[in-house]
Amino acid sequence: MLSLNVVTLLYLVAAVCFIQALKGLSHPTTSRRGNLFGMVGMAIAIVTTAGLMHTLSLHMPQVNLASGLAWVLGALIVGGAIGTRMAQRVPMTQMPELVAFMHSMIGLAAVCIAVAVIAEPQAFGLTAAPGLPIPLGNRVELFIGTFVGAITFSGSVIAFGKLSGRFKLRVFQGAPVVFRGQHLLNAVLGTVMLAGGVLFALDGHWAPFIVMTLIAFALGVLLIIPIGGADMPVVVSMLNSYSGWAAAGIGFSLNNPMLIIAGSLVGSSGAILSYIMCKAMNRSFFNVILGGFGGEAAQGAAAQAERSVKSGSADDAAFLLGNADSVIIVPGYGLAVARAQHPLKELAAKLTEKGVTVRYAIHPVAGRMPGHMNVLLAEAEVPYDQVFEMDDINAEFGQTDVVLVLGANDVVNPAAHDPGSPIAGMPILEAYKARTVIVNKRSMAAGYAGLDNDLFYLDKTMMVFGDAKKVVEDMAKAL
Ligand code: NDP
Repeated sequence: MLSLNVVTLLYLVAAVCFIQALKGLSHPTTSRRGNLFGMVGMAIAIVTTAGLMHTLSLHMPQVNLASGLAWVLGALIVGGAIGTRMAQRVPMTQMPELVAFMHSMIGLAAVCIAVAVIAEPQAFGLTAAPGLPIPLGNRVELFIGTFVGAITFSGSVIAFGKLSGRFKLRVFQGAPVVFRGQHLLNAVLGTVMLAGGVLFALDGHWAPFIVMTLIAFALGVLLIIPIGGADMPVVVSMLNSYSGWAAAGIGFSLNNPMLIIAGSLVGSSGAILSYIMCKAMNRSFFNVILGGFGGEAAQGAAAQAERSVKSGSADDAAFLLGNADSVIIVPGYGLAVARAQHPLKELAAKLTEKGVTVRYAIHPVAGRMPGHMNVLLAEAEVPYDQVFEMDDINAEFGQTDVVLVLGANDVVNPAAHDPGSPIAGMPILEAYKARTVIVNKRSMAAGYAGLDNDLFYLDKTMMVFGDAKKVVEDMAKAL
């Protein structure tokens, strides 16, 4: 039997592991170690919780330990198997959807736990016998955990659809879905939801709980559909934060300190990430949450057909690169799609051999998830001292001979300087300041924000059309 003191101590060890995991994940060089800490912490937390179930069952005859443990084990095997399979199969480009899917599962788990607690509070040790009311404090916590969980679930489902771009439904498109009276509707629904929650907290009945939960599910959808285009990074990090707070809320209802600590760590790190993303995009958090950016995307994209661009071959690009003194490579989502990071490293190595100074410029929202480009470059073992964050390299573009933009679009779009643009104010990598710009993409299609990009039409820009992997390999060959 584990004494409660030992349980607390083990939970503390797990919490320290989680903090070390977050610390490790803050840099590519330490991220594997961070993941290892996370796994060890989670294993300690699960085994300790099983031990705690055993301890509690000795004091509470109403708790059936064997069936409880059987359920936990069954869920671990099924969930673990599905998770392992998904993690093995998911391509790097689908990671953001996987993350959104996981957030949705955390939200749904919070709602399911709350339903189970309300149905059988005695099984969770909240009441001494069936039929007794759940204490007021726990009802308030259940209400908060449930509505945050429900919003996280349905919001993450919409984010999943928007990020995957594989579904035809309008709400799953990158473009925002806005309609008249949207904010008013949200405000009314939010008020009714809170009223339902307060009623539930006061009387503990199912009816207000169900109303509150259903409205929270609807609100999750309504809050995320008007957010489109370039503002999705904030949504992803915000839902990450919500999923943590939902878990923490349920941790309070279950009086489980581990869930409270782990949930708070996820909640606060997600909130910090949202802040970083808002800062990177020069957005106020409330502007993003209230939605509606990216509305003019279609007009921008429509205008592109009438303009002409200069295009060249991979050989032409290799000639320009080989004759430069300094080159900055700007990777974007297309690099991830093409999985061109390994040939890119070879190309950079060849240039370096020729005496060219090669650096990589990373925009904080390049790709489809925070740190996407860092992960890709780390996978190809690109030396970290060649990789620069936006603020550290932006001043260098003006003195650079050639900028090679690979599958990036929104993060180098000068439309951000136009106050009327949907991405107005978003800081960009100032590739347009370089002496020569080479852009590789497959077509003149718009980026994630759905906007045309003036960089492609500059006199000093040469477009090299084709899949990034093939083009980079051809450039390396030509060198
Ligand atoms: P973009 O999505 O703006 O542009 C990517 C470009 O890559 C496209 O224009 C596409 O053009 C090109 N491309 C696609 N496949 C290939 C390929 N195989 N070979 C060559 N080119 C290819 O990417 P950015 O990285 O510039 O910007 C990221 C965008 O995603 C921002 O708007 C950001 O806000 C948003 N976002 C970011 C998230 C994050 O956390 N980082 C999360 C959610 C959204 P073409 O089809 O013509 O090839």
